[in-house]
Amino acid sequence: MSPALLTAPARPPRNRAAILLLFAALTVVSACDNDTPPTPKSTAVAAQEQDGPLTGVTIVIDPGHNGGNVDHPELINEQVDVANGKKACDTTGTTTDDGYAEHAFNFDVATRLAESLREAGATVVTTRPDDSGVGPCITERTAVANDLEADVAISIHADGGPDDGRGFHIMEPVAISGHNEDVVAPSHELALDLADAIAAETDMPASDYIGDEGINPRSDMGGLNLTTVPKVMVECGNMRNHDDAALLSDPDFRQSLADALDVGIRQYLAD
Ligand SMILES: [Zn+2]
Repeated sequence: MSPALLTAPARPPRNRAAILLLFAALTVVSACDNDTPPTPKSTAVAAQEQDGPLTGVTIVIDPGHNGGNVDHPELINEQVDVANGKKACDTTGTTTDDGYAEHAFNFDVATRLAESLREAGATVVTTRPDDSGVGPCITERTAVANDLEADVAISIHADGGPDDGRGFHIMEPVAISGHNEDVVAPSHELALDLADAIAAETDMPASDYIGDEGINPRSDMGGLNLTTVPKVMVECGNMRNHDDAALLSDPDFRQSLADALDVGIRQYLAD
């Protein structure tokens, strides 16, 4: 932690309070309803700031997918522009053989991480308020962090990889002209700090089937192509692998993972 970060916000909140209020007002109930189909709207949720070592820091946590996506393919399959092509608005995510859904895992880890970062004083905004809605689209999830000029954005996922492949990997942006070029380098630093922390603080190894020591640059992820703030997508393990699935399904492991992500984010902010 740098002394500057301990004593003063790196960037004054100025318009952030108003933006956070706007996001709170935009929070929508997206449960299924026969008369009014849910729409994948922005569902960013903010919380009260506390004084602490991360006071003045804004962090956006994006739990990937959503519990209602599976019932609304007509909404999540809408094609959205991701700078170098089109992709689906959102997807359903993967699951373990025992039926533990990725969207539930993502939301649980995000909730644990948000709690610890808020306790440290950070302003934490999540891109969906619960695990039963639809969407929002990947473009809207990315816009939440961009609009807030977040110091860090992190998207939480678990992979549906080959069943004989183990481990976590962190997807980081590749430069897309006119979009994310300014944040490729800091996003790489964030990825390195998170990979170090996960390897040191949890039982999950770095991936043996994708990336290099857990780092995986990607140009096919809308959430990375469109980001204008330092951002990575963490694939916390492989839900299709028996050993990884056992860890991912364990609440104690999920807490250790959230703690590791907290450590990695703080290390990045202190660098
Ligand atoms: Zn995912």
